[in-house]
Parts: sequence; C-alpha cells; structure tokens
Amino acid sequence: MARLSRTQGLVLRIQDYAETDRIAVLLTPDRGRLDLLAKGARRLERTSGAALDLLNLVRVIFYLRRGLALLREVELLRTFPRIREELERLEEALVGLQWARSLAVKGEADPRPFKLTLQFLEGLERGWPPRLARLAYCLRLLAVAGHGPHLAGCVACGQAGELFWAPDRGGLLCGRCGGQGEPLADKVVATLRGLASLPPAALPRLQVDEETQAEVAELLSRFLEAQLARSEPGWYSNAP
Ligand SMILES: [Zn+2]
Repeated sequence: MARLSRTQGLVLRIQDYAETDRIAVLLTPDRGRLDLLAKGARRLERTSGAALDLLNLVRVIFYLRRGLALLREVELLRTFPRIREELERLEEALVGLQWARSLAVKGEADPRPFKLTLQFLEGLERGWPPRLARLAYCLRLLAVAGHGPHLAGCVACGQAGELFWAPDRGGLLCGRCGGQGEPLADKVVATLRGLASLPPAALPRLQVDEETQAEVAELLSRFLEAQLARSEPGWYSNAP
C-alpha cells in the first residue's frame, strides 16, 4: 500500500491526459507546485472530478508512484464565483495563475507564494480593482521568488532622476549605466513603487489611469520573460 500524503492547493491549471485522465497543477503551501494525475477524472466529472477546476481551493489526498503524484481523493474547500462571473476579473485572475505556474518551484516548502495567491484571489472576489490587484500580486510574487525588480533608483549606481526599464539588469537603470529606449514617466515609476510597497488593502484607494496600468503590465511581463530566460534549468519547474 502506497503511503498517502495530504495537502491543500489552488488549482492553477487543468489539462486532459490520455483518454479519461486529467492533470491538475496545484500551488500548495507546503510543497510548492504539485502536478497531480487524476486517473479517470473525466469519467467522474459529476462527482469528485468537478472539484478539480481552475481557481478552486481544494484539499487532496495523493500518493507517489514512479515519480508521479496520483490523486486519491479531492475535496472542494472554496470557490470564487464572482471572479468567474466578471470577465475582466477572470482574465486578470488567469494571468496571475500563469505567473504562479511559471514561478512556483516543485517541492518547495515556502508557504508565501500560496498565501499571496490566495490573498490575490480573495481580493478579486471582494472587488479589488482587477488590473491593479494583479500587478501588485505579480510584483510580490517576484519578490518572494527572489527576483523582485530593483525600484529604488538605478540598479547599478543608485542614482535617481531619469530612469529606464532594464529587465535583463534587474530593474531601473539610468542612462549613464546603459539605460536605453524611452525613459520611464515619473508616474510609471511611482506606480511601480506604490504597487510593490503598499499594503494590498490600500489597492482600492490607489488612483492610476488606464494607460499607466497598461504600461506597468507590459513592463512586468517583459521583466518576467527576462527572469525566466536567464534562470538555470530547474528553477521554474518542469512546465509541460
Ligand atoms: Zn546608474
């Protein structure tokens, strides 16, 4: 009899596998990213299989066999109905879950990514502004993964003033240290700093125009790409 393990997790991704199986990618508080094989899940759709849906918080019992984690039981702990009902909320939630999937490490016993992700989804469910909530979440997720962008002046010399975005150097960079392209507008820099440092509960009071939000989103997505590209294999798990 295989030894059973139990944990809880947020469902980051669901993928059909073989004819009747399903693979669920979970973010857990005690073992990082956990890829679970649910045998026959598509046949069990109406019973336990339905709990294994994107965005749900579930409790699972599983066992390991030949390096695979096989699902034995799943119990639904929490759903986020409002996120599902509002398109913009859902879109931002799904982008956030992709970030979690990219940054979560398999087998890592650090509860912070899980806590941040749960807090982000609970905030969206309560009505936090979706785009700002997602941007603040991504900045915090990068920080706990040890890859937070340097935002206090130039990453190389510390100078304030005119600054450029340099994802491959780790954040803000001044012109003398090699910053290229268009310098960032002051309000973009202020928004990045605010999102990285304000307590999440302050988000609903933050006033940031749509254009600035879109620019910050673009900067962060370039930043994530650069971090993933330069990380050694194995750092961000073996995503399929
Ligand atoms: Zn500099």
